[in-house]
Amino acid sequence: MTTTLVPYDEALGRYEPVLGIETHIELGTNSKMFCGCPTAFGAPPNTQVCPVCLGLPGSLPVTNQAAIEGIIKIGLALNCSIVEWCRFARKNYFYPDMPKNFQISQYDEPLCVDGHLDVEVDGRTYRVEIERVHMEEDTGKSLHVGGATGRIHGADYSLVDYNRAGIPLVEIVTKPIEATGAAAPLVARAYATELRELVRSLGVSDVRMEQGSMRCDVNVSLMPSGTTVWGTRSETKNVNSLRSVERSVRHEIERQAGVLDAGERVVQETRHFQEDSGTTTSGRSKEEAQDYRYFPEPDLVPMAPTREWVDDLLGGLPELPAARRVRVREEWAVSEKEFQDIVNAGALDLIEETVQAGADASAARKWWMNELSRRATEQGVELTELPVTPSDVVRVSLLVTEGTINDKLARQVFDGVLAGEGTPDEVVEKRGLKVVSDEGELSSVIDEVIAANPDVADKIRGGKVAAAGALVGAVMKATRGQADAGRARELIIEKLTG
Ligand SMILES: [Zn+2]
Repeated sequence: MTTTLVPYDEALGRYEPVLGIETHIELGTNSKMFCGCPTAFGAPPNTQVCPVCLGLPGSLPVTNQAAIEGIIKIGLALNCSIVEWCRFARKNYFYPDMPKNFQISQYDEPLCVDGHLDVEVDGRTYRVEIERVHMEEDTGKSLHVGGATGRIHGADYSLVDYNRAGIPLVEIVTKPIEATGAAAPLVARAYATELRELVRSLGVSDVRMEQGSMRCDVNVSLMPSGTTVWGTRSETKNVNSLRSVERSVRHEIERQAGVLDAGERVVQETRHFQEDSGTTTSGRSKEEAQDYRYFPEPDLVPMAPTREWVDDLLGGLPELPAARRVRVREEWAVSEKEFQDIVNAGALDLIEETVQAGADASAARKWWMNELSRRATEQGVELTELPVTPSDVVRVSLLVTEGTINDKLARQVFDGVLAGEGTPDEVVEKRGLKVVSDEGELSSVIDEVIAANPDVADKIRGGKVAAAGALVGAVMKATRGQADAGRARELIIEKLTG
């Protein structure tokens, strides 16, 4: 098959992309979907397993209520209808990481249907329609050892870890996303970003793409411009970063345009995204639903969430990211650009907590975004990982407002807090960082500086007041930055010309 890529803009001149995104999100429940096994990430292999999640004969599943609560919250936040009655289904297939030889999932009776999520790209809003949100269980994890690619092909042997098998998994499926044109890769990325923020705000998953608790399968097809018949789609599996979501869409558009230009047919298949090259490679040909021999799960009763329960969950939803964005931008009077910088720096929660704890919004932004972000970058850690809390920032900005310290000294206070020297007040005390506000002390320092710089003093006496800057600098140096520079200047001029 042709592998000639068509340059992106050229491809968009002839074809209209249609997207579809299936996202799997592992819920952060304490126990698995159908058994009581713990779910902690990173435990030694096969230490979080039991007869149920290993699929041993005679074991029976029991539904995890916290997981059902989690998926209903996700469904409600995505504006879905929650059905009154639905069932689990068995999806039959063999794979070594699935000990039961079937996955308990949902097929024709999903729990949440017909929702939407609005995303913004370059000031334009795109509504992504949600077809369904359903509940299933995760598989285990295979590790293929000895091959060059980490895939089973070419490996010497494989290991399997069932700790993940049976962790509650929510699958969110969009309807076809059309009419995005050249913005398709950005819309896909914006959707994944917004979905991640939304689920995180609900507190039902840590949605860490790098750890696999959120994974996207990205479908792309092309139709010739001006037509309405969808082309054959490819499905790029388990794309595990937001950037890769964008890049995989872009690559598939360029690749499929090349195939269609050559008069060939796009093969319906799953593909793998290659992080290093930004390309996708062919996986297996895609199964049809009939291949899975779905049937209603006989070991579980149907799910029938009561209206009261669903209404309670709806009433208990937190402020969702889109609403919060509007409110915060207005309250802090920040531009879209500044707001994005704050979000990208991971500072939104920290700044908001700092403001809620009593700091001025602009001071909170200044310290987190300038001073502390820089230090986090220098140390290669997330802002939230710095050993400084919103209440520390509140205290430092209060000390500045009171005049106990100035901005320059505040930086030294943060140095001390980050070095583990204690609270801001303790650092001020230990390092002796107070602004010199005692007039007598300041006055005697100025006398010393005047005595040491007779030439400059003479110029000021002769009317060259601008020369006072040099003496102010000397005063600041002598007090290690702890003097009030404005007051020092006044006193110098007073002493020499008064
Ligand atoms: Zn178990």
